[in-house]
Amino acid sequence: MAATIPNGKIELINVTKRFAPRGRPAVANLDLCVEHGSYLCLLGPSGCGKTTILRMIAGHEQPTEGDVLIGGRDVKGLPPGERGTAMMFQSYALFPHRNVLDNVAFALKVRGVAKSARYAKARELLEKVQLEAFAQRLPSELSGGQQQRVALARALITNPGVLLLDEPLSALDEYLRLQMRGELRRMQRELGITFVHVTHTQLEAIAVADIVVVMDQGRIEQAGSARDIFLAPRNAYVARFIGGQNVLAGMVERSADGRTVAVIGNGVRLEIPLGGVRVAPGEAVSASVRRDRVTVRRSAPGEPRQDPLNSVSGEVHAIENQGSWVKITIELGNDERFVANVPERVYFADPIDIGERAVASWQTSDVRLLEDDRVMRPAAPAPVTSVAA
Ligand code: ADP
Ligand code: MG
Repeated sequence: MAATIPNGKIELINVTKRFAPRGRPAVANLDLCVEHGSYLCLLGPSGCGKTTILRMIAGHEQPTEGDVLIGGRDVKGLPPGERGTAMMFQSYALFPHRNVLDNVAFALKVRGVAKSARYAKARELLEKVQLEAFAQRLPSELSGGQQQRVALARALITNPGVLLLDEPLSALDEYLRLQMRGELRRMQRELGITFVHVTHTQLEAIAVADIVVVMDQGRIEQAGSARDIFLAPRNAYVARFIGGQNVLAGMVERSADGRTVAVIGNGVRLEIPLGGVRVAPGEAVSASVRRDRVTVRRSAPGEPRQDPLNSVSGEVHAIENQGSWVKITIELGNDERFVANVPERVYFADPIDIGERAVASWQTSDVRLLEDDRVMRPAAPAPVTSVAA
């Protein structure tokens, strides 16, 4: 069997998928380009269309409109086995009565590859996933993590250019999940092929992917590097979904020098760098504030409010120790909460407790204006948003 790896570049061009002629499409006018050899995560809540996208790439589902290209080739009408893709499922789908070696070699058996050749290739893959010693075992004699690795080896035996992984870690316990996600990333690097990994877990996507695509209701809300998605969410949906940010909404008071000051309630003001966007006084805006850049101090009893620019105050609602940092949730009133992630050393130097009053403050440079269709008004023509690998 030739070991050439097909080109795993994936292009989805204006793809729409409707399961019913009327009603909301599962995937709507989706444009996405994934370069060969990149690790892409599709991230979004249940029902947003992630599996449908994978199935259209794999050929188990046809787009209602639009094109799917793999390696530059239009794959319309091509059966799954001829697309250079392989799929790994959440449930592993291993054959219970075949041993590990036969499970891994199965796809080659179907293709009529001679026994010695397919076993040799299967052994090579078992070595890659560090399971060579388990070749004769049945799946039931393996742990969940080991079954997962068998499933990975089995998917890779046809030398795909694209591996499609649908919630690959969701059946594992937390410890194994963290271990396996590192393994997946390592394997992807070693193989140099394209991985498209579907997950609804934010930190899983951030941890493994080069490119994260955040989806909602069949649409892409943001596509970008894992770092950008985490540190520079484009709109309130992405900021809230990823976490790591506070989202504040307010009304523009005045602007100068590329910054605007917005009133976010109760006389509290927020300074927002505008990055070239024009806003008018009285306009509604929203902005994100990085949770890890917020400092928190205890407010003195009866303390008069001083300079409420870039700071909020309220009662400490929750304290969660996360090991290297502590998450402090402050109740702002009207059911609104503000979160600070404080380094553990800073926190434990003078730990503030639930029920105490706190002041949280931050720098303007840690604030970002959010795009919301409702309030966005670019100074120049709207930039074309494309997915750069
Ligand atoms: P996700 O994987 O993000 O949870 P899916 O791609 O499975 O989402 O589903 C997206 C939407 O399409 C959902 O509303 C789902 O109910 C619908 N859907 C998925 N597959 C089918 C199908 N075979 N027939 C009808 N509706 C479907
Ligand atoms: Mg799904």
